[in-house]
Amino acid sequence: MALAHVLGVPRIGPNRELKFAQEAFWRGEIDEAALRDVASGIRQANWRRQHAAGLDFVTVGDFAFYDQMLNHVALLGCAPARFGFGEKLGLAEYFQLARGNDACPAMEMTKWFDTNYHYLVPEFKPDTQFSLGTAWLFDEVAEAQTAGFEAKPVLIGPLSFLWLGKEKTPGFDRLDLLDRLLPAYAQILARLKAQGVQWVQIDEPILALDLPAAWRAAFERAYHALNGAGVKLLLASYFGPLRENLLVALKLPVAGVHVDCVRGGEELAQVIDWLPATKVLSAGVIDGRNIWKTDLDAVFGRFEGLHLRLADRLWLAPSCSLLHVPVSLAGETGLDPELQNWLAFADEKIAALATLKTAFNAGRQTAAAALSDNARALSVRRASPRVHDAAVGARLEALTPAHATRNRPFTLRQSLQRERFRLPAFPTTTIGSFPQTLEIRSARARFRKGDISEADYTAAMQREIGHAVERQEALGLDVLVHGEAERNDMVEYFGEQLAGFAFSQNGWVQSYGSRCVKPPIIYGDVSRPHPMTVGWTRYAQSLTDKPMKGMLTGPVTMLQWSFVRDDQPRATTALQIALAIRDEVVDLEAAGIGIIQIDEPAYREGLPLRKADWPAYLDWASRAFRISASGVDDATQIHTHMCYSEFNDILPAIAAMDADVITIETSRSDMELLRGFGEFSYPNEIGPGVYDIHSPRVPDAADMTRLLEKAAQVIPPDRLWVNPDCGLKTRGWAETETALANMVAAARGLRSDARFA
Ligand code: GLN
Ligand code: ZN
Repeated sequence: MALAHVLGVPRIGPNRELKFAQEAFWRGEIDEAALRDVASGIRQANWRRQHAAGLDFVTVGDFAFYDQMLNHVALLGCAPARFGFGEKLGLAEYFQLARGNDACPAMEMTKWFDTNYHYLVPEFKPDTQFSLGTAWLFDEVAEAQTAGFEAKPVLIGPLSFLWLGKEKTPGFDRLDLLDRLLPAYAQILARLKAQGVQWVQIDEPILALDLPAAWRAAFERAYHALNGAGVKLLLASYFGPLRENLLVALKLPVAGVHVDCVRGGEELAQVIDWLPATKVLSAGVIDGRNIWKTDLDAVFGRFEGLHLRLADRLWLAPSCSLLHVPVSLAGETGLDPELQNWLAFADEKIAALATLKTAFNAGRQTAAAALSDNARALSVRRASPRVHDAAVGARLEALTPAHATRNRPFTLRQSLQRERFRLPAFPTTTIGSFPQTLEIRSARARFRKGDISEADYTAAMQREIGHAVERQEALGLDVLVHGEAERNDMVEYFGEQLAGFAFSQNGWVQSYGSRCVKPPIIYGDVSRPHPMTVGWTRYAQSLTDKPMKGMLTGPVTMLQWSFVRDDQPRATTALQIALAIRDEVVDLEAAGIGIIQIDEPAYREGLPLRKADWPAYLDWASRAFRISASGVDDATQIHTHMCYSEFNDILPAIAAMDADVITIETSRSDMELLRGFGEFSYPNEIGPGVYDIHSPRVPDAADMTRLLEKAAQVIPPDRLWVNPDCGLKTRGWAETETALANMVAAARGLRSDARFA
């Protein structure tokens, strides 16, 4: 008898109930009891669904009021001492860790592996202590048991917990805290055992990473120490193959292991070979990172033999927590029904798991109806003309290296462009968006609802463009932008105009805290039926003699912030998007736009988890960018923009994009991030952001001059641009105008500075 379970499910609720309750609580509109009621309702519904689907456990501990790592900080009583809280946090204190308070900035937040989920980074010091902290996990276990469910609590394992944190004291290694941390884990396990828990899922996703030898070695020690607690541990790895960590994982003294058979499918045979005869194998067979139906027949065929051997030692599961997919298709009314029938959100993935369990345990025939529905949906998808566009395929086939190269090398392009634009030294520009005022957002919303006509909407947006151009001219900026008033979101705006993209109504996924995103779904070959930005940009250019910069989102970012096809490599989808963007770039040029920015803020976050896989990614990612950018004349200037990231380890790949100008976010690091570009001798022009747009603080000209002087020490001054860190859409006009006026003053000051003459 195969068992079935999930590693975790979305915690936001089917209609983002948690988000609305959190935000109401923060505004003081509801009290803690009301917030807790909403949370309990979400958990109970999640458990009921798992139970009703015939899963063998309900997963407890996947719920969090803000973030699962922060829950462990609370559970382990290790809130940063700077907050001055005790070992047992209250909910209000918990939220202060996440959001900061008057005295203390919030804990740092960073991306959870290669997902778009963000966790709060535990802070470690040599004297960090661990204890049995906040008891929420135990309460939730009791809550599930009281409701009559078999609870399987989930914990983040001690090594992943330490790895994902950060040392706050120099010269100390957080791995040294392991011996102090393990007794706290042992206490947690003992308490769960006392509650009658049989199995605990203990997540060690870092097993999918390149680990230093000391960390790999620490696994055995750690799990020997936890072995004595007397509960069965299911060690869960996910997000990739285990590779050199495979034996480490399989030999640990735990009762079972979970492996990701979607991303790590190629090593399944090895896992089976090495699986000790008494251990449970939880096979992650349903993709927890994507929204497509699983080929259930294929899973059945692949695991049938193994099931005969392992019987109840085979567990079926999604590859990872379902946190990373939307809750349910039940609320979707706007999707094309055929496309909708190819999709599976969390609820549908749980239903698929139930079908598989029935097929394995009661025979394929018993699940025949569900299996054949599944097979039919998949075969329709495979053959669908919605998915396959021969013209797109032919264009991809016809790509040559010339498509991915500008005609001349950068230095020759640079002189052509200098002659054409005659910009002053230290040219000033912005990253694209201007404040999205209430009027802009309401005009867009009214247009979407059909309350105003297209003509009225166009006129309203043109007025906004007119304001933005006027203000930029008054400020004396050198390269202007139209301000992106018509855009709701930099991916959605383009996705809505491209073939091959679809949008759900309610497909929200938690990004962090109460923030959710609704990624587009790329289901088919991508092409661009009509120009997307040419009208707005041409209109903006008609209002000024200064160069107007066209503004596009790049192929890697479009890919990275969407759910993508699983029936072709990511690289192929990226190239298709690249060609669509290229068409837009060429049309902008033909419309007289001489400077075009192709944003790639997600370029770095696309990096695979393992370094060995980086070169292949960077190769197709930079090629996709170059294909989007290389359809133009050498006198046309291509910009790109990247948000704050660790650039240093991918500088060659950034240089390989060969953008004429790159603007990057550097002010928060006091230009330190720029040093890498200098040491690498980054060859093209560069605009290090001189002020942080995330903060309401308006920097004065002297602040920005100092940053520019610092930049000029590492980058030749004649290659420096002057711009803010990122787009200004979240700011107000008043602060924006003051800051930009100061920025222009700083640039002018440097122009007349003898040192840079
Ligand atoms: N052009 C975009 C803007 O200014 C860039 C946003 C981003 O980098 N995320 O809003
Ligand atoms: Zn940015």
